[in-house]
Amino acid sequence: MGQVRILVVEDEVIVARTIVSQLNQLGYTVIGTASSGQIAISKAIENKPELVLMDVILKGEMDGITAASQIREQLDIPVIFLTAYGDDNTVQRAKYTQPFGYVVKPFTPKDLRIAIEIGLLKYELERDLKENRDRLATLLNSMSDAVIATDEKGIVTFINPAAELLTGWQQADALGKEISQIFQIIDEVTETSLENPVTKVLREQQVVYLNEYTSLITKNGARIPIGDSASPIMRHHNKINGVVVVFWDLSERRQTQLLEKALQKERELNQLKSLFISTVSHEFRTPLSVIQSSVELIELQGDNLTAEKRKTYLTRIQGAIKSMKQLMEDVLFVGKSEAGQLDFYPQPLYLEEFCRELIGEFNTIHNHQTEIVFNCQSERTDACMDEQLLYYIFTNLLVNAIKYSPAGGNIQFNLTCDTTNKVAIFSIQDQGIGIPEADQRRLFESFYRASNVRSIPGTGLGLVIVKKCVEAHQGEISVTSQLDVGTTFTVTLPLSS
Ligand code: ATP
Ligand code: MG
Repeated sequence: MGQVRILVVEDEVIVARTIVSQLNQLGYTVIGTASSGQIAISKAIENKPELVLMDVILKGEMDGITAASQIREQLDIPVIFLTAYGDDNTVQRAKYTQPFGYVVKPFTPKDLRIAIEIGLLKYELERDLKENRDRLATLLNSMSDAVIATDEKGIVTFINPAAELLTGWQQADALGKEISQIFQIIDEVTETSLENPVTKVLREQQVVYLNEYTSLITKNGARIPIGDSASPIMRHHNKINGVVVVFWDLSERRQTQLLEKALQKERELNQLKSLFISTVSHEFRTPLSVIQSSVELIELQGDNLTAEKRKTYLTRIQGAIKSMKQLMEDVLFVGKSEAGQLDFYPQPLYLEEFCRELIGEFNTIHNHQTEIVFNCQSERTDACMDEQLLYYIFTNLLVNAIKYSPAGGNIQFNLTCDTTNKVAIFSIQDQGIGIPEADQRRLFESFYRASNVRSIPGTGLGLVIVKKCVEAHQGEISVTSQLDVGTTFTVTLPLSS
C-alpha cells in the first residue's frame, strides 16, 4: 500500500495540501499536485502515477471530468473524483469517464483510504478481465476452427475469422442475425435440410454433435462438408445463456477418405483377380493331367491297347474336356457379369410351363437317381423374364441339390406367383448334407466352398452365377440349411423385369 504513487489534482491550494498530508499519513506516495486539467495531464504523462485523485470542478478551460477522461483513455490510469457536488448532471458526466470511485467533500482520511483501495482493486480486476478477454479474443481469432456464438434466443453475438471464411458471412453482417440465416446445414446423403444445432441445444440443453455426412450451405450457396459440435453456454446454474457452435471444414478429409476407399477397393479387386487366376489355373490342372496321363497310357500301350481300355481312356479324356469346358464357360460368365456386360433379354413366358420343361430337359441331360417333385399352386404364372438366365439359376441349384444329397432322395421344386406383390417365389429344397452355419453367408463368393464338401468335386462358381442372374432380374436369393437335414434356396424375382 505504501508504494502506491498518487497524483493529486486540486485547484484549492489549502485543500490540496490537506489531501497530500492525509495521503502521506496513510502511507501513500504523492508524486505531485496539479491545479488544472492541463497540468494534470502533463504530470500524469511525465510521472506515470498509479492513481489520480481529481477534483471535479477545476479552474481554467478544462474541468476535472474532461481531464479524467483523457487520462483514462490515453494513459489507462484509474481516476477517483473528489467532489463537493453530488448533483445528477455531474454524476452523469463523470460516469462516462468510468471513474473508479468518488469521495465527497468533506471527507475523512478513512473515507479517502477506502475509496483509494477499492478504486485500485477495481482497476486491477478490470485489467485482469480485459487481459482475459483479449487473450480469449486472440485465441478465437487465430483458431483454425470456426466459432459462432449466439445468445439464448439464437441471435449471433460472435463469429471468428475462420467462421467468416467458411460461411461467407462477414462479422458486420452476421452479428445480430438469427443463427439459421448464416448457419444452414443439410444431410449429404438424403439431401434434406437438418435442424440447426443451436435450436437443438436450446431445446435439449446439452451438447449436440452433427451426423457424419453433413454439409454447410455457405452464403453463396456452395456446400462444404463439415464436422461440428454445439454446446450450451451456462451462466447461471441450469440457465442457458447462449450457444457456441464450433465447426471445421472436412472437404480435405472427406476427399482423402474417398480416395482411401477407392484404393482399398482397387486393392481388393487386384487380390480377387490374383485369386481368380490362381484358382482357375489350379482347377484346369486336374483335368489337364487326366488328359495327359490318359494320352501317355494310350501311347505306352501302343498295339497292346485293348478296345475296352481304349474306351475307358477316351471316356476319361472326354470327361476332363467337358469339365474344362464347363469351367471355362463359368469363368467367362462371371467375368462378363463382373464387367457389367451380362446379356439380359426379358421376354413373356409362363413360369409353370417353363419350369416343367426345364426339369424334363434336366432329367434327360443329367443322369441321376433323385426325383424332382415340382409343385405350383398359382393359377396365373405369366411373367416377363430372361429364359437363359432362369435356366442358369435353376440348373445350378438343381445340380447342387443333387450333388450334395445322397442318391435316391427327392427334391421339392416349388413355384408361387404372388400377383399382389408382383413377385414369383421359387424354392428348391433338398434332403442333403446341409451347409454349416459358419459357411452360409459366404456361399455367394467366388470359389467359396463349404467345409463339408471337400470330397465332392466343384469349383465354387455355381452360386456366383446364380446370384448374378438373380440380380439381373432385380431379385433376391436366400438360403436356409441344417446339417444332415437339408437345404432350401429361395429365389424371389419380380414378375416383370
Ligand atoms: P460349381 O462351381 O461346380 O457349382 P460348387 O457346387 O462347389 O462348384 P457352388 O454351386 O457355388 O459351388 O456352391 C458353393 C458351395 O455351397 C458348395 O461348394 C457347397 O459347399 C454349398 N452348397 C451349395 N448348394 C448346396 C446344397 N444344396 N447342399 C449343401 N451344400 C450346398
Ligand atoms: Mg454348384
